[in-house]
Amino acid sequence: MKLSGFDEYLDEGKLHLDESSDLPELADADDDDTLDVSVTHGDSYDPFALVKRALDSDFDSSVFDMVDDGDLPLAKNWLEFCAGPSFLNVKPFPKQIKFGLEFFADYCPDCTDPKIMDELFDQSLQEIYDRVQTLHRGVCPKCHKTRLDFVKEGKLRFYNELAGCAGQRSGKSVWVALTANYQLHRYLKLPNPSYYFNLLPGQTLHMTFVAITYGQAEDTLWQPFRDQYDRSPWFLEYNKLLDHYGSKYGVELYETKDTYLWYDHKRLTCYASGPDKRKLRGRTRFFCSVDELGWFHGTDKAVKLNPDQVCQALERSLRTIRSAVEKKRNTLQQFDAPDAVFANISSPSAANDKIMRLVRDTSIPTRYAFHLPTWEMNPEITRESLESEFMDNPVDAERDYGANPPLSDAPFISNPEVLRAIIDTSYKNGCAYDAASVLDKTYQATLHIKNFHFEPALPGINYIIGIDTGYTKNAFAVVLQHFDAGRKACILDAVVEIRPREGCPVHFPSMFSAVVEPLVAKYSVALVVFDKWQSIDFQQELQDKGTKALRYSLKHEDFSIIRGLILNRKAVLPGPELAFNKIIDPSEDYSRMIDKRPITHLIYQILAVRDLGRTVTKGLGVDDDIFRAWCLGVKFLVDMDYEKIFQHGAVRGKRKKGLGFIQGRTIGAPMQRSNSYTNKLGSILGRTKS
Ligand SMILES: [Zn+2]
Repeated sequence: MKLSGFDEYLDEGKLHLDESSDLPELADADDDDTLDVSVTHGDSYDPFALVKRALDSDFDSSVFDMVDDGDLPLAKNWLEFCAGPSFLNVKPFPKQIKFGLEFFADYCPDCTDPKIMDELFDQSLQEIYDRVQTLHRGVCPKCHKTRLDFVKEGKLRFYNELAGCAGQRSGKSVWVALTANYQLHRYLKLPNPSYYFNLLPGQTLHMTFVAITYGQAEDTLWQPFRDQYDRSPWFLEYNKLLDHYGSKYGVELYETKDTYLWYDHKRLTCYASGPDKRKLRGRTRFFCSVDELGWFHGTDKAVKLNPDQVCQALERSLRTIRSAVEKKRNTLQQFDAPDAVFANISSPSAANDKIMRLVRDTSIPTRYAFHLPTWEMNPEITRESLESEFMDNPVDAERDYGANPPLSDAPFISNPEVLRAIIDTSYKNGCAYDAASVLDKTYQATLHIKNFHFEPALPGINYIIGIDTGYTKNAFAVVLQHFDAGRKACILDAVVEIRPREGCPVHFPSMFSAVVEPLVAKYSVALVVFDKWQSIDFQQELQDKGTKALRYSLKHEDFSIIRGLILNRKAVLPGPELAFNKIIDPSEDYSRMIDKRPITHLIYQILAVRDLGRTVTKGLGVDDDIFRAWCLGVKFLVDMDYEKIFQHGAVRGKRKKGLGFIQGRTIGAPMQRSNSYTNKLGSILGRTKS
């Protein structure tokens, strides 16, 4: 059965909302909710539409006055609600208690044992009660100071967003369930939520649990929430009260179905949802949670979704209540108004996935973040008890339980030690430079390279330059390399990288005249290889000056060969500007770490790029320009068709001719030999001063 408006729903054009446009908060976008009621499960299932169908009749606001829930207590704080026998009656882990009390600013920083908050891990509930002084609805019963006082003193903070990155079985989804129930409890105790927040009369407030699929949202977030809810003495009592009033007045005041909760008299609803942006947008929420945000980018473990868009849609839906709460705090000094909460929890997949970025980003003052391995959160699981998992697959176990992800979720090089082994610290980046923004005559700022210095060339060696030309989004990377006939290895001589800034792209012609041309003039550069098509002008210019230049698109076979060279230590990198252990530490901030450190950035990129089977692509939130420029050079240094040019050179620092060819000649990718190339060869060799 289809409800009215279904045809319009099918007309995508009418429903189209521009992702990027900043739509005003729609009072209730649920007018768009049309549904096929035969759907009761799956990603397109929307329980709220079902609820709404039954309630589309005019809302009778008198139901607010029908129910007197004054006899049912409001919990004094998060901990009393969770552990209190008349509320949820569960025992959270001490770490969960710490997060709850800090998140809701529910303890007195002056009357609490100053050490306990940091020590919370395996204490008994009694010990926690003895040493922690909780606030009672925002007021300390001992010193009588309020939450607002402590916030002003900088001892507590108002949070409304949680970013929790922790290992599997750490208890993070239990924390979300506890907090969601607490939130529902507090909102049910508001006499009239839409009036309280100054909304349209009878406007519905949503609690939504989101995961990568509807099924996963149901399993990992909805079910733990419902299990606690169903067993909670407080909610049982509350619903009994509604039964009483319902039969008294002959109306149904609430519904508790497997897939949703609906409180008609308060206009509150709770349900799980798939990550459908259309459904996430527009509604007004008092709580939402996303599970496994670190896995939203599409690997074998998950479908591809844009985590930033999902978060943005949800965040906007919280704005109405958040603004109202802010006003209540600032102008009315109401320090116990329940805020709209966004709780994101996930295990990490890679160092720059969404959850790791959220946890590291400290620019949002209302975000509470934690990042813990399983054994530091759940006192019932020790590191030792996971030993067999660590033996089986150390990288996965470190990621899944240690919450310590590799730089890439689909690594091109999975073991960083392999990369450490190809670093030869007796080499350094053989050039130095500055980047400066320059205003042109039309007042457009562009980035130019300044003060470019480089080491002198080795005699008797033919060099190769690989170039990756990003324009607005990517960096411009130039990598100079040669083949060391003694080591039979590709040696990286110099890297230049210019990264564009916001509104300030890289000035291409200057990169060419200030970097590529001087290098070609001073080094015996036998070949310049470009990655991108837009570099056609430079290619022609180089050819005109007698330097062979070509454009080449790296293929997956090329990357396989390059990986083989890395594993066999036949590609050598100079010492990075930053200690290797720092580079592979996932808690380091990417942008800060790689700034003005091109070798560090190259190493990071090699570890962060994703090998997707048919192609090797950028890592999550990481550039790949230097990596690609480097690979272009390596590819041609070992190419059979170029072996006479590159592999006959001298060994490092000495002149040594004809030291043989690279072993295992079959590794070179086959390449069409063209006449023009053979002709060009003469001129290249002619230019080589040997
Ligand atoms: Zn106190």
